[in-house]
Amino acid sequence: MNSGEWYNLFLSHSIRVMCISSEEGFAKDVYEYLYGLLEKQQQFPEGKFLSITRQLITLTEEENEIRIDKSSQVPDGMIKWILDSYLKSNSEKFKDYVVTRFEDTFTIGKMISLDQMGLYSCELCNYTTLYKEQLYGHRMMHYFGAPS
Ligand SMILES: [Zn+2]
Repeated sequence: MNSGEWYNLFLSHSIRVMCISSEEGFAKDVYEYLYGLLEKQQQFPEGKFLSITRQLITLTEEENEIRIDKSSQVPDGMIKWILDSYLKSNSEKFKDYVVTRFEDTFTIGKMISLDQMGLYSCELCNYTTLYKEQLYGHRMMHYFGAPS
């Protein structure tokens, strides 16, 4: 195990899937699709190591967020594959949708360009963020120093 893997082991216990869409019930649909396919994988001899339960794979609907506990043993590649196949299952409806990944977080949703997102940026150092509140907090750091 290299140091990067140790780092992940200690810092995060689950993989997150953020579901971004104006479509009603999108996160729930993605969750049920993902869960169904993972259960199916588990039935194959190659998928025997998987541990798929509603306790380990959860949906927080208010936050449009799916969490996959790492103890479920689901490989990252499998998550990516399932999310991609969900989009392909209705390529007409999801034609502007993409699956992206940043560290332990996958995002499935409508592709948006940077200027559509309305980024906020700091006039002192060019730090950019999607969230006004975050920029506010960031600016405070310039004035008062980083919190210790
Ligand atoms: Zn700044």
